[in-house]
Amino acid sequence: MTTVRAARPAYRPYLARVERVRRLSPHFVRITFGGEGFEHFRVGGPDQRIKVVLPFADGSFSDVGQHSESSDWYDRWRALPTAERNPFRTYTVRGVDPLLNLVDVDFVVHGDEGPAGAWAANAAAGQELLLVGPDVRGGVDGGGGYDWHPGTARRLLLAGDETAAPAIGAILESLDPQTDVDAFIEVPSAADALAIGAPHARVHWVAREQRPCGEGLIAAVTAWTRSAGDVLSAAAAPRPQVLEDIDVDAELLWDSPQDAEGEFYAWIAGESGTVKTLRRLLVQGHGVDRKRVAFMGYWRAGQSERME
Ligand SMILES: Cc1cc2nc3c(=O)[nH]c(=O)nc-3n(C[C@H](O)[C@H](O)[C@H](O)COP(=O)(O)OP(=O)(O)OC[C@H]3O[C@@H](n4cnc5c(N)ncnc54)[C@H](O)[C@@H]3O)c2cc1C
Repeated sequence: MTTVRAARPAYRPYLARVERVRRLSPHFVRITFGGEGFEHFRVGGPDQRIKVVLPFADGSFSDVGQHSESSDWYDRWRALPTAERNPFRTYTVRGVDPLLNLVDVDFVVHGDEGPAGAWAANAAAGQELLLVGPDVRGGVDGGGGYDWHPGTARRLLLAGDETAAPAIGAILESLDPQTDVDAFIEVPSAADALAIGAPHARVHWVAREQRPCGEGLIAAVTAWTRSAGDVLSAAAAPRPQVLEDIDVDAELLWDSPQDAEGEFYAWIAGESGTVKTLRRLLVQGHGVDRKRVAFMGYWRAGQSERME
């Protein structure tokens, strides 16, 4: 007799209950989620992205497959009348506790009108939202959804702002202690420097304070490039490279090359204008092979995240 097994989605909505809320610093809230089926929630890569689907004011959700473990949540969401579409935003899994089946997400409380930041600022145990994330039964790589592909690199540069801090923390904690890594993280204030369990990594927290977003991060990474000439020249592209000029107000700034051979790898994420400048610095300013630089515009100053 042949047993037919239903295909499992790699990426699907979970009805998630807030188990714990911890204010980590003035601008970070760590929210721990659990619920039915969380024993199947696992990350494919350390910067695993998820969608956070937020409740309406009365706490309700339209049906996007959260009760049927459905993989077509986005098609269902789009098929709804506009007024019935719950807002959603993109976040990173900061950690998974595989014994207690809990998932941590670090939310930046940025004080703007955005629904996700506002929800996180007021979150309390017992509240619910939907997390669209990996289901290990659908495959070990979580249906993709991560951009950390260092290949053989042992010399690493990570750079990002507070929205990338959860991903950078998780990446650093996943690394072999022999890895030679510098991480630059711009945060709103000095009090937002968080604990990261990676004593081997050189983590440089850059406090923004009153400066414009990205200014301190760009200055810190620029200073680092001056001291890393040998590393950067060894990672040079074989031929001159032309970078297309992406309009960060209209287009998604995103490129994450696949795993490849090479000693150096850079991962850059955060506010799109800043990410664009840092990519230019490495690729055009220092000739680093663009195949060794992942860059992700996580948000754009002055714009809400687009849901379509
Ligand atoms: C792959 C990926 C992973 C991400 N991981 C995380 C994560 O783990 N934690 C996290 O906090 N964010 C993360 N982000 C960023 C997050 O999705 C955005 O900050 C998002 O815009 C927040 O939604 P919102 O509803 O609060 O604000 P929106 O409605 O999207 O925006 C409202 C206004 O707030 C501004 N704004 C948005 N975010 C910020 C901010 N951080 N600081 C200042 N102003 C802001 C916008 O420019 C806009 O003017 C990630 C983004 C991506 C693409």
